[in-house]
Amino acid sequence: NFRLAPSFDAQAQSALLRPNPKLEQCLVNSTAKGLPPISVLPMSGQHLSILAQLMGVKSVLEIGTLGGYSTICFAEAGAKVTSIEIDPKHRDTALENVNGLDVEILLGSALDVLPKLAEEGRQFDMVFIDADFEDQWEHFDWAVKLTRPKGCIFLDDVIPSMIKNGLEEGGETILTKIGRDERVQATLMPTVACHSMIPTPVFTGFILAVVKSH
Ligand code: SAM
Repeated sequence: NFRLAPSFDAQAQSALLRPNPKLEQCLVNSTAKGLPPISVLPMSGQHLSILAQLMGVKSVLEIGTLGGYSTICFAEAGAKVTSIEIDPKHRDTALENVNGLDVEILLGSALDVLPKLAEEGRQFDMVFIDADFEDQWEHFDWAVKLTRPKGCIFLDDVIPSMIKNGLEEGGETILTKIGRDERVQATLMPTVACHSMIPTPVFTGFILAVVKSH
């Protein structure tokens, strides 16, 4: 059935996605500037947008801007977005792409920027983590501190990061760390990603967590 995924994905995309010049221009400009094609897939961007609208999200903290595709999804859903990006070329491209939207992009490594946001007492309705795999747990830990109670954390690419980190079943993983964390209640949603740049569908997934307390 995995083989059918690209066909379902293509059908869903053509049926459910409406034209969005800002998102389309974001991809065109990001490609022209030489950014890697690793933004969230259009259907995933739509998922983030729906989640933000369902929660009435007014503020989003994003870790990993790239060209600003997911940033635009959140901003168009009605949120003010604070996004962190380590690569100046990605930040500059994203600034062009999000022009006119309520977005701030902070340049730096997330682990340098996140403590400063906490020091300033910033709180967000939702945190979207989509940066390097190595620091996923540390990013999650800061995200909990920066999310208001009953706000949510969306951690992308959980399964590829577990595979990349070579962690065996039964060993310490991002799942066991989050599972032990009494501040949150979390679930793992496995998904199948289809992308024109990759020959076969990829097994991936995200963690969605609600923050109970700090
Ligand atoms: N959310 C983006 C989108 O949908 O278009 C995609 C983000 S891309 C998968 C990951 C981004 O995180 C890259 O632009 C990368 O430079 C940035 N990044 C990686 N490690 C980072 C870190 N430690 N701190 C801040 N940004 C980081």
